[in-house]
Amino acid sequence: MILDHKFDLGFLPTPLHHLKNLSEKYSPYHIFIKRDDQTGLASGGNKTRKLEFLIQEALDNGCDTIITAGAQQSNHCRQTAAACAIANLKCHLLLGGTAPQKYNGNLLLSHLLGAQIHFTGENRKGENIDGLKQQLELEEKKPFVIPYGGSNLTGALGFVNAVKELKAQLIAQNLKIDYLFFASSSGGTQAGLTLGNDLYNLKMNLVPIGIDKSETQGVSLEEMVLHIVNEGKQLLKIKKEYRSSDVKINNDYNEAGYGVITENEKEAIKELAKNEGILLDPVYTGRAFYAMTDYLKKEKIPSKATVLFWHTGGFSANFYYADELM
Ligand SMILES: *Cc1c(COP(=O)(O)O)cnc(C)c1O
Repeated sequence: MILDHKFDLGFLPTPLHHLKNLSEKYSPYHIFIKRDDQTGLASGGNKTRKLEFLIQEALDNGCDTIITAGAQQSNHCRQTAAACAIANLKCHLLLGGTAPQKYNGNLLLSHLLGAQIHFTGENRKGENIDGLKQQLELEEKKPFVIPYGGSNLTGALGFVNAVKELKAQLIAQNLKIDYLFFASSSGGTQAGLTLGNDLYNLKMNLVPIGIDKSETQGVSLEEMVLHIVNEGKQLLKIKKEYRSSDVKINNDYNEAGYGVITENEKEAIKELAKNEGILLDPVYTGRAFYAMTDYLKKEKIPSKATVLFWHTGGFSANFYYADELM
């Protein structure tokens, strides 16, 4: 089966548990959390699930080098560097901006994990990948390109699998999830969750919270997700016509733009930390968690609903944003 052909990188299944104190605070809502911040790959995160499939594909193709791209504080790039260390692959990271005097947060970790880092100025979404690929091929290397955020169908299969994992936990805990909140940025997580939700018939209402309004190489995030979902439905033989309404993203919490920390993110990080002892990140999960609590405060979803927050990781970026978070 396609979903079993992967290179193990994560400590799976990640825990699914109740947030007791916050459920009391937001009663009568019931709040649960899925801990992909605990995937175990060099401090965890959602990219681990995608990388299990992407690294397997690289190895199947006989590649010896991985190229990927992101922002300097990219969790995806940090986890890719760790995955390459495990799989004995050389790792090249194309990161936006110019070299800082001091490395911090994810950038420091990617460096420690042995990645070769290239700074690419304005480009933080993989615009320079082809050039580097050609150069490495001239040097007789066999590079494998992982797209921005690991978001293609191969990567998304990690999140189809994640829904299968969730389903087993829901059965064991005798639970049904009504609403699933998560951060959506390069689209692979959302595409995989959308496909998995249908494949495993969980009937959750997905609430993807937009983190980055800007397009990736001229394609909007919703178009990206729909494209991956349509490829995936054929591979997985899902009989459903997907429309843009099936991949709708809520961008209401995204005014400040990618990686800009506002009072909202700060409030959310402190709320989960002080009430439950769990740490979010300022770029993705801080924004998405804030959005979820805003839905609950304003009763935008029916009372008594059972909601799940998918914690997608990002812990290491807190140190980079220390000034904003004080
Ligand atoms: C990458 C990332 C996301 C978004 O996942 P996509 O599949 O890129 O949409 C969410 N949270 C964290 C912490 C991430 O690193």
